Amino acid sequence: MQRHQFGPTGREVSRIGQGTWRLDEANRASAVNTLRRGLELGMTHIDTAELYGDAELVVAEAVAGRRDEAFIVSKVLPSNASRAGTIAACEKSLKRLGTDRLDCYLLHWRGIYPLDETFGAFEDLRQAGKILSWGVSNFDVEDLEEALSVAGPGKIACNQVFYYLQERAIEHGVLQWCQTHGVAVVAYSPFGQGAFPHEASAGGRLLAEIGAAHGATSKQVVLAFLAREPWIFVIPKASSVDHAVENAAAGDLRLSDDEIARIDSAFPRRRWPGSLPML
Ligand code: NAP
Repeated sequence: MQRHQFGPTGREVSRIGQGTWRLDEANRASAVNTLRRGLELGMTHIDTAELYGDAELVVAEAVAGRRDEAFIVSKVLPSNASRAGTIAACEKSLKRLGTDRLDCYLLHWRGIYPLDETFGAFEDLRQAGKILSWGVSNFDVEDLEEALSVAGPGKIACNQVFYYLQERAIEHGVLQWCQTHGVAVVAYSPFGQGAFPHEASAGGRLLAEIGAAHGATSKQVVLAFLAREPWIFVIPKASSVDHAVENAAAGDLRLSDDEIARIDSAFPRRRWPGSLPML
């Protein structure tokens, strides 16, 4: 599994990680087992949130006894993101996760609280050792500019955003902004919530053909395409060990410039939709 520097954190994080949204809806033992297997295979970046029901409890079970191997990310809901509310939400997440610190803590999306309140709380938590870094999610370029002016350089670890083959809105500015400012991009919902190209479509056939050249599946090709730059990370969610094994193997798959260009033209980015799409 390839690892890359995660923004300004000084930490090396797995290129492919593990999402946990709706993982608590799967059989608990199987979900725990899947995360553990993923961890063993190097998918150390585990993404969760207070929003995701019991997912933090599933993560707690999966990392029990091996906390140091994982890079755990959780998120505060915008409705909790006041200065005091952020600290209280973090304490609850730490308790549910059975850990004394988060590797990274994110504002899930922008809400009513001014960024200086939320970021002030993040800094308090960081100084107390309860979070080791912090970042944002679903921020477009305007939000990122404001975040940078509030936080100053070198503070925002990542921006977690919606990114899959047929939704490439972040390529209109967010990706570039993050690269320029040393902020990691974390691509969520990389399989597009069921919108994966049909294998009989022209795009589906291309993915299969490129996969065949590498002994890889179409899903692995997509993960490698999305995480084609060292500042981009991908967090597919799997609730079966087979899926976790398949996703982890994509962590060593590198596509050639020609393959990237062919995928790029088969799934062209659409016009800027006017605002950053999010789930
Ligand atoms: P996703 O990862 O794009 O897709 C999950 C679906 O793909 C599940 O049905 C899963 O099936 C299936 N799958 C996974 N690996 C597979 C494989 N190798 N082959 C075939 N199918 C496979 O969707 P997501 O859960 O929406 O996004 C991933 C993570 O991003 C979330 O879990 C969450 O942690 C994060 N996220 C963040 C935000 C945000 O606002 N920041 C929003 C959405 C998501 P099984 O479950 O059966 O394995």
